[in-house]
Amino acid sequence: MTTTRAVWRWVAWALILTAVTLLLLGFRARLDKAHVALLYLLVVLAGSVSGGRQLGLVIAGVAFLLFDWLFLLPYYTLVITDPLDWLVLIAFLVVSLVATQIVHRLQGEASTARTRAAEVDRFATLGAETLNVARAEEALAAISHVIASTLQARACRIHVVEEAQVRGEVPAGSLAVWVGQHGRAAIRRADGTTHLADSAEVPAVDLNTATAIYLPLQVRGRMAGVLALEYDHPFDFGPGERRFLTALEYYAALAVERVRLAAEADHAEALREAGRLKDALLASVSHDLRTPLTTIKALAHDMAREDERARAIEEEADRLNRLVANLLDLSRLQGGALSLSIALNPVDELVGAALQRVSGALGGRPLEVHLEEGAALLVGRFDFAHTLRILVNLIENAHKYAQPGTPVDFSIARLGDRIQFSVSDRGPGVPAAERQRIFEPFYRPAGSLPDVGGVGLGLSIARKLAEAQQGSVEYQPRPGGGSIFMLSLPAVDLIPPPDFL
Ligand code: ADP
Repeated sequence: MTTTRAVWRWVAWALILTAVTLLLLGFRARLDKAHVALLYLLVVLAGSVSGGRQLGLVIAGVAFLLFDWLFLLPYYTLVITDPLDWLVLIAFLVVSLVATQIVHRLQGEASTARTRAAEVDRFATLGAETLNVARAEEALAAISHVIASTLQARACRIHVVEEAQVRGEVPAGSLAVWVGQHGRAAIRRADGTTHLADSAEVPAVDLNTATAIYLPLQVRGRMAGVLALEYDHPFDFGPGERRFLTALEYYAALAVERVRLAAEADHAEALREAGRLKDALLASVSHDLRTPLTTIKALAHDMAREDERARAIEEEADRLNRLVANLLDLSRLQGGALSLSIALNPVDELVGAALQRVSGALGGRPLEVHLEEGAALLVGRFDFAHTLRILVNLIENAHKYAQPGTPVDFSIARLGDRIQFSVSDRGPGVPAAERQRIFEPFYRPAGSLPDVGGVGLGLSIARKLAEAQQGSVEYQPRPGGGSIFMLSLPAVDLIPPPDFL
């Protein structure tokens, strides 16, 4: 179709040139050489504009010969007698050639501008596809479609990569999987051979031999996906197509990132929902367990006078009760529903109450209290009952896990704007790998003593209680062996009233 049109165009210009020549011939006697040159120049220019440089050059050449043959003396020969005629002819030829070249360049620039405008248009469409589609997966499909149709591929697929694993249905060992793992491009050629690139890009020579192209998609230096293009025959990628492909990779990477973020948000929502359900379940089960436990305890208490074994039932009921109370507190703490009465409290009162509470439970183990100078006068901002519970728990743990007979050290000091309570023991300490995990609910290290009566809730409740009052509970290994558990709470500086100054 295009060739036929080109042939017709050449024929038309041959006719136009003939017609102009005949016209000029008709008036030859009255015409000056400049008239002939100008008219032929006009034909050359119009020919280049309509049919391109080749046609322009051919018209210029033929016009040059016709000029000499028909309009320069002696007529009907190519001989030139007047040297000035040489000047006219050469000037005509040079002007024709330069004009044809200029027209050609301008046409080239106009066509590049048109291509660029079309590219911008396609990118705008693509941008709109990425942003407008409500679901991230649909955006991915829309972009694949635009890429396939623009680069005339049989198929275009965009695979999401997570932790170097290609998601979705991709045969193991396929090139897409390799590209996803290595972050390097790869192609498959028509003869079935594979070429693995050294970087994320494929050189142009290789690109034009490929029937399948796999490109890694990166977002902020992280592998996010793989763009796969499939062709029936190798596709001729020009500079425009290559530019387009590079830009498309960017869009595809954004679409893949959007899919990943959407999946993350879904997962987080599912986790939140599961957490809410678990808390609700825990709260209702704990509540329902408490009622029968109270009855069992009361009955066992009555029976203990006649049967010694009832005392054991009472103790176990107490233990279960504590466990249920802990479970309830944990679920309240996690749900932010535990009520705290934070007030100014003197540290010595808290220490006194803690010592009194644990005195019976230590079974003769020495508890050494170290109050830094002035520490007894310290005042903190905390909930008295809950802080007491944290301290008792830390001291009881030290007693539970430390070697029999070794003392437990309890020290209180002011550190900047904090009050720090440290409970140190000479027990086995906590292995480095467990130091954060022991603060997770129900976590007990693999080798924990099974019969110490705990389920792994004490420390997690202690830390959450401390955090609820702007404090913290931390672990530190004790030099020479053992553990130090530190509770830190906000200290308060009491300013004496003006009359005392
Ligand atoms: P429980 O004592 O009921 O198991 P906790 O939450 O109080 O639960 O403690 C969690 C784990 O931390 C314990 O199982 C234990 O392994 C470890 N742990 C706590 N206190 C000490 C300590 N003073 N010395 C050594 N290990 C400890």
